[in-house]
Parts: sequence; structure tokens; C-alpha cells
Amino acid sequence: MALKLYNTLSRKKEIFKPFKKERVKIFVCGPTCYDFSHIGHARTYIVFDMIVKYLKQKGYDVFYLQNITDVDDKIIDRAVEEKVFWKDLSRKFEKEYLKDMKALNINSVSKYARATAHIKEIISQVERLLKKGFAYQIKDGIYYDIKKFKDYGKLSRRTVLMAEDAISRIDEAKGKRNKGDFCLWKFVVPEWQKSGKKFLRIPSWPSPSGDGRPGWHFEDTAITEKYFGFQYDIHGGARDLIFPHHEAEIAQMEAISGRKPLVKYWLHTGFLTVKGQKMAKSLGNFITVKDFVKKHSARILRLLVFRTHYRSPIDYNEKEIEQVKSQLERIDEFIDKLESIKGTKNKKWEKLTKSFVLPTEKEFEMAMDDDFNTPMALASIFRLITRGNQLFDRGKLTPAEARAILAFFRKIDRVFNFIFWGKRVAPKIPSFIKKMVREREEARKREDWKLADEIRRKIQWMGYKIEDTKEGPKLKKFKP
Ligand SMILES: [Zn+2]
Repeated sequence: MALKLYNTLSRKKEIFKPFKKERVKIFVCGPTCYDFSHIGHARTYIVFDMIVKYLKQKGYDVFYLQNITDVDDKIIDRAVEEKVFWKDLSRKFEKEYLKDMKALNINSVSKYARATAHIKEIISQVERLLKKGFAYQIKDGIYYDIKKFKDYGKLSRRTVLMAEDAISRIDEAKGKRNKGDFCLWKFVVPEWQKSGKKFLRIPSWPSPSGDGRPGWHFEDTAITEKYFGFQYDIHGGARDLIFPHHEAEIAQMEAISGRKPLVKYWLHTGFLTVKGQKMAKSLGNFITVKDFVKKHSARILRLLVFRTHYRSPIDYNEKEIEQVKSQLERIDEFIDKLESIKGTKNKKWEKLTKSFVLPTEKEFEMAMDDDFNTPMALASIFRLITRGNQLFDRGKLTPAEARAILAFFRKIDRVFNFIFWGKRVAPKIPSFIKKMVREREEARKREDWKLADEIRRKIQWMGYKIEDTKEGPKLKKFKP
């Protein structure tokens, strides 16, 4: 089956063909380390973790690169505000970010690359853009002239004029040629540096054009050029990065290399809102990864993310969490059932049922190959659970089949990590056993001794023994 990806560049689903067969180079925008990550950020990283794991499962050799923005105006502003040295602040939140990723079982990144470890590469790109006439110098820094790049706006479908609309993280400065021109290198203000206070010291590196620091869009292309070269396969990120950030990356690298496209497939994740609103500290709906994992669990967040297609918005609310929890309980309960029939064999049953894992496996792959349609993949898994439960309740699920389903679940969980990974909510006595005990009690009340006895035997076969006491039936683990 051919894998298809929705490419933001063409606004179409395209058959995935990496530059080099079987090898995939993927870059995803990493965190700006000035605060804790929230579950909206986590959504993007969970999605790309799933994508990379799925590509690996399909046999690709994947190099997953992510940058760490450890020098940026946001970091500097926060550091000054909190009276701490910028580097101490960014290192602290980098550590927190990596801790969050570990807690969410996001372990597919091949290399984390800090911006400050690539200053040499950044300066080299600035100089090349100046030389080629795409960049110009004014009093406070070096800027990119977006009018010089013919393809400007091809990703976001904005014109140079549209770039003048109010947009986030635009660099304001006197003397810019176009309002949408963005900063490549910001010169350091000497008065600030003279201050005796360490926390007021602004990051700065020497460069041929003057001491300063890189603009935000610049580290990505410097880092990807170092590890990937001029062109690579996939660039990912949240959809609010399309403009101006990713548009700027294209303008920088394609102007330097003269080659296009910089990236073959641009993949963007949808927003995560809370009760319809964007997550923001000022609105008090800012849920950090740390708090979420403490209150609920990482499993819940992963399933919550996969229930929606990665390009669609997710509205986070309590109802959604309850639904995720009950789905996880359903999965756990089903696995308990499958594990309870391990090792028992009955030839008659083997003949009665046919394997239904194979069709589900096909459905799963078809859904995932269609631009990573995880809600569709999950639907096929829940259909399998429904059918499996029906057979199990009739005592017709064979040990061979139980083993095949478990093996399939383990396989898909290497991509999803919410089935077996993390703390399962396995009850002491599974609820399906409790249900059987209730059914037996009802049979006894009706004086249907034959059925009651049959259920008792079935319960015993599953490893539990019923003792009828004056207070009612009591269950014990049964060891034959
Ligand atoms: Zn980026």
C-alpha cells in the first residue's frame, strides 16, 4: 500500500516518495525554552512521534531532527523579568521539556540540536544571503528582503503585501524595506552589555557584520543544512508556524542553495483549544504537560490526541477525558480477557472461529497510510474489540486467536504507546468476571441450576473460584 501525506505546500494528498528511497529526513520545530510546555505543544510532538514510529514500522530508516530554541527574544524578556541569566532560564526549561517528552514516551527523536550550538552555521548563512543580495543591513540588524525572493508566500499563499497584516513575532525596526521583512541577525545594544548585572547581559556572538544574536527563523535552516544538506523530506510543526516562520525558512534556504524545494512535504498539526478557546496563561486555561500527567496519565493524553485526525482541531474538555478513560478501560478489560484464556486449548473452538485479526490489520494499515488517519485506525481496533467480546462471552474465542490479537496490539502499540505502555487501570477482579457472577446469581434465583453451574465452571476456567457464603458469593483466585 502506498503511503499518502497531505502536503501543505500543494494543499493535496501526495504519494510519499522521499529523496532517497527508504531513507527519511524529518525536521520538526522544537520548543522555545522560556516556560513549561502545555498540552497543545504536546499534541504536535505526540503526533510526530507517532508518524516517525509508523514510518519506521513501514521499513524506513528515519532521521528525526528537532531544534531547541535556547536563544530568543522571548527567553531574554522572561529572563530580565525574572532577574535570571538567560542561559540559566533556557537550560531549566529545556530540561523540563525533555522530562515532559520522556513522560509522554516520545522517544523517536534522533537528535536535539540547540540553536546556540550552531552559531557558526547561522553566521555562514547570514553572510551568504548578504552576498547574494537577499539580505540588507540597517542600524539594529540584518534583514531579509522578501521582495527579492520570487517564491515568497508559496507555502502560506500570502503575497508580500499580505505579509504586512498584523502577524505574530514580526520584527519591528526602523529602516526596513518591507514591513514583512524579518530579522536574520540582531545586533547587540552595547549599553545593555555594560550593566554590571549578569541577568541583564544579552546573548551575543562575534560576526563579520557585527556582534549579535540570530533571529528566530534562522536556526532551523542552519541546523537542517548541517545535518541534512540543502533539501530534505518532511518538515513538521503546528499550523500557526506556517506563517511567517516556515515561509521564512523556505525564503532563506532556497535563496542560498538555489534549489527547490527545501522540503518535499510540509506537515502541520491542528490546534488544541480548551472549551473553544486558545490556550493562554491569561485565560487561566493553560494546562501544562506536567500537571496533566500528574492528574490523569500520559496514556490518556496519547489516546486523546489520536482520537482526532492530526490536522483537525481538538477541543479539550472534561467530557472528552471521560470518553478517553472509558475507551482505555474497554481496551484494558479486553486484554484481561485475552490474557485469561492464555494456554488453554480446545480443538472444537479452534474450528468454530476464523481469524479476524488479518482484516483489522489491513484496515489499520489502510487508515494509517491515508495521511495517518488515526481515528479511522482506532475505529477498526474497537470493531475488533466488539467482535472479540461477543465471541469471548459465548466462550468461542480460541487461545490461538487471543494470542494473535495480543500480538497485533503489541505491534500497533509500538506506534501508539497507549495500549500496554504506562500504568494500566487493570482492576483486581476484572469487571467481566464480576458480570458473570451477577449472571450466575440471577440464574440461581430462577433456579436454573444448569446455567448457574455452567457459568461457575467458566469462571473457574478463567482462574477464579466462587464460594457461596451467607453474605453472597465470594471470589477467590483459583489455582488448579
Ligand atoms: Zn522552527
